Amino acid sequence: MAKELPQSPRNRVSLATAKAVPFILTLVVAYASYVVVGPLSIDYLINNDRGDRKVATGIAISIVWFVLLIPVAVTWIRLLLVVSQDPGYVSYGDDESPGEPPQEFWMRDVFVCTPSGLPIWCHHCRNWKPDRAHHNQDTGRCTIKMDHFCPWVGGVVGERSMKFFAQFLCYSLVLSSYLLILLAFFVHRHTDRVQWLVALALAGFFVFFTLGMIVNTMRLIFNNTTSIEEAGPRTILMAVLLPPELQAELIARPSQAYSPAAHGHENVDDLHPAVSEINDPSHSNYFTNDSRGWPMRRLARSKAWKGTVTYPLPSSLSVDRPPLPAPEQRTFAILETWPGMNPWDLGTPYRNFTAVFGDRLHQWLLPIRHSPDCEHSSAISFYALGPQFEEMLDEVGLVQRNLSQEHSLEKGRRGVESRKKRRRRLGKGWQNGERPDGWISEKEARRRRNEARARIREEENVVQ
Ligand SMILES: [Zn+2]
Repeated sequence: MAKELPQSPRNRVSLATAKAVPFILTLVVAYASYVVVGPLSIDYLINNDRGDRKVATGIAISIVWFVLLIPVAVTWIRLLLVVSQDPGYVSYGDDESPGEPPQEFWMRDVFVCTPSGLPIWCHHCRNWKPDRAHHNQDTGRCTIKMDHFCPWVGGVVGERSMKFFAQFLCYSLVLSSYLLILLAFFVHRHTDRVQWLVALALAGFFVFFTLGMIVNTMRLIFNNTTSIEEAGPRTILMAVLLPPELQAELIARPSQAYSPAAHGHENVDDLHPAVSEINDPSHSNYFTNDSRGWPMRRLARSKAWKGTVTYPLPSSLSVDRPPLPAPEQRTFAILETWPGMNPWDLGTPYRNFTAVFGDRLHQWLLPIRHSPDCEHSSAISFYALGPQFEEMLDEVGLVQRNLSQEHSLEKGRRGVESRKKRRRRLGKGWQNGERPDGWISEKEARRRRNEARARIREEENVVQ
């Protein structure tokens, strides 16, 4: 079984703070409720001795307060439960060092990888990181699509809690705005009431604070990114399954495609030197061969192309042994995104918003259902991929573009800024489990690989 890892001192302090803050927040809300109901509604409006009792106003003010408090409390409890019970932690592994990555990575068409084509390994959790997972020092855990460690809710805000977090912020803004306007009105009349002033100051603080948080959180959601990704490296490496033609080509030329020792990957950390570099001399033939109609030259020229990796990883690293023909063999291109590119940006703010909030009004308002992007059953990738990713494939020549797109792509090369301004005309391939046009199915890929193997066998028989 997985073992709990020891926590560093920083963990303990952070976790203790995180436990205390929800308690303090509860006290603040309780105090504000007391001021609204007690000193303001009952003492000042309902039971006063001045002879202008305003019973209805007093009751209405209190009722509105509690009506606005309900969604705050409900979203907060939902948030606390998710954060404390299942915030999307990646499970601890048993192995000290990485072995063969599990199939859930390389049976998908695309995954985030290291320069050697392996998924990213977390030494702390002793496990492979799914796409967009990040290791958090405060909790000592990797969290899926982690955004930040939030002491206000006592833990990590990530994929599973982002929606409830945003809802909590919005409802809190409504509640504290109500309190601010209410108390500003009455303090204006009586500047000497200390409790009103204290509550007014608290309301002012929370309006400012939640407003700032909402602006930032919604910006992240509309761009389908996270604080971690914004602060992280400007480029990422992605393993992208090669189209069937290229897979068949690689099988037909095994001596060139699979000669690990020739590629200078003796470094043990890249423990599976199955990576072949595009600029390796042994590849010059292969990647400049245009005879099969595939734009090989463009591949070789592309800055994004960093090599290939084939799964399952060869268990022996012998130099001249061709790989055993296994039906499930899958070869990936290792591509580096251009700086600032977000492969998960689904193209429009609305699409990115619905990936977190769902596409129905009740899902936007109620903290019940998890975000649609918590669903990871797609065989394509862990998260839906957007037009920027598709553009990268176009650019390296991994999908065949149609001529109407040629013009927009040429413009797109000028940089990320012009890409963003330009209206996205690309299809929505790679999203919702759809592959773009020109990408042939796994079944077709298998057929072509088998064809290539049959050809090799025939040639060998002829030689014998
Ligand atoms: Zn970790």
